[in-house]
Amino acid sequence: MYFKSILVKYGEIGIKGKNRYLFEDALMDNIRFALQGIDAPFEVTKESGRILVTFEGTYDYEEAVSRLTKVFGIVHISPVVVLEDKSFDAIARTVGDYMEEYYGKPDFTFKVICKRADKHFPKTSMEAAADLGEYLLDRFDGLRVDVHKPEVGVHVEIRNCVYIYSVDIPGPGGMPVGTNGRATLLLSGGIDSPVAGYMIAKRGVKIDAVYFHAPPYTSERAKQKVVDLARIVSRYAGPIRLHVINFTEIQLAIYDKCPHEELTIIMRRYMMRIAQSIALDEKSMGLITGESIGQVASQTMQSLMATNAVCTLPVYRPLIGFDKNDIVDVSQKIGTYETSIEPFEDCCTIFVAKHPVTKPNVHAIERSEHHLADVIDEMVKRALDTQEIIECS
Ligand code: ATP
Ligand code: MG
Repeated sequence: MYFKSILVKYGEIGIKGKNRYLFEDALMDNIRFALQGIDAPFEVTKESGRILVTFEGTYDYEEAVSRLTKVFGIVHISPVVVLEDKSFDAIARTVGDYMEEYYGKPDFTFKVICKRADKHFPKTSMEAAADLGEYLLDRFDGLRVDVHKPEVGVHVEIRNCVYIYSVDIPGPGGMPVGTNGRATLLLSGGIDSPVAGYMIAKRGVKIDAVYFHAPPYTSERAKQKVVDLARIVSRYAGPIRLHVINFTEIQLAIYDKCPHEELTIIMRRYMMRIAQSIALDEKSMGLITGESIGQVASQTMQSLMATNAVCTLPVYRPLIGFDKNDIVDVSQKIGTYETSIEPFEDCCTIFVAKHPVTKPNVHAIERSEHHLADVIDEMVKRALDTQEIIECS
């Protein structure tokens, strides 16, 4: 069946009082962005706590639905019939035609749920629901009323127009991206960091990303994988600006001058410092990582403390209490898993010590970093100056 319009229902943003219009506007912008390039002109409008997407002519319905189910802030979407004629007869006939066209021979229990926002409409919601129910029972033999647990709820909302729908497709929930500030994701090619970015974006936070690249130890293909991951996350999070930092020189210096069992921690501290510097430039309000307690040596409580010690911005670690299995589940659900497991080395796997410290002492680490004092500021500056920026969407 052809649906000219799709009705979008949103949740949490409805409760934001005076800020409500900001949230609605952000959601409408994000919907427009998500539908960009769809094969028909469309319009996104707002009506009393709902958003309506109206297409001109035929379009790829499955594709439009698939894209809308990734827009944070959307709780449900429903393909909807919109009727301008608000006479009872026209409504009844249209509801009947809709049932016939959508379900063929309706054969299930149902209930009509009516909302009369337009108080000029002569029947109350209850009366209209009862009368429409009766009309449908007369027209279709297979229908039975069940007011408690109907298989199909037929919604008829009488507002500026009449909206008729009976299908609720779940959206991702969360809040519209852009309504809760900006944060900077340390994005590697692994399974965890794309999921971490997804989770923070879901709370309405706009995401930038930083990737530490170590050519020739990490290949162009490894970098492309990170770009691919940023693109997948951007289907949910909107456009992501990816900063690619050449980290080779710094990594080699650490390798040269610092105790090997501390390589990973020291390297991670420089990643955080550089990411923070980018974040501050981008007016971002926090860093995001895919760390989870105890996952690897660099994610023990002591290691996290040592890494965190170089940050003044808050560091958001949404996966901190997740088991790897749970993270894999989310990555499969959001579609990053297959890309994450492509076998391209990241810079951490090249310079790993056989026996990394698992309980680093911050003061000892600081002493080791002293060995870099002569060169590191220059190197960090060079890394920042030579960064490559890739807009991913
Ligand atoms: P992931 O699966 O997300 O790569 P991981 O389990 O491999 O994480 P680590 O390598 O210890 O764990 O990295 C911890 C976090 O540090 C990552 O989740 C990511 O946020 C960040 N990170 C690690 N390597 C890089 C990199 N090359 N560029 C950017 N961020 C990185
Ligand atoms: Mg990794």
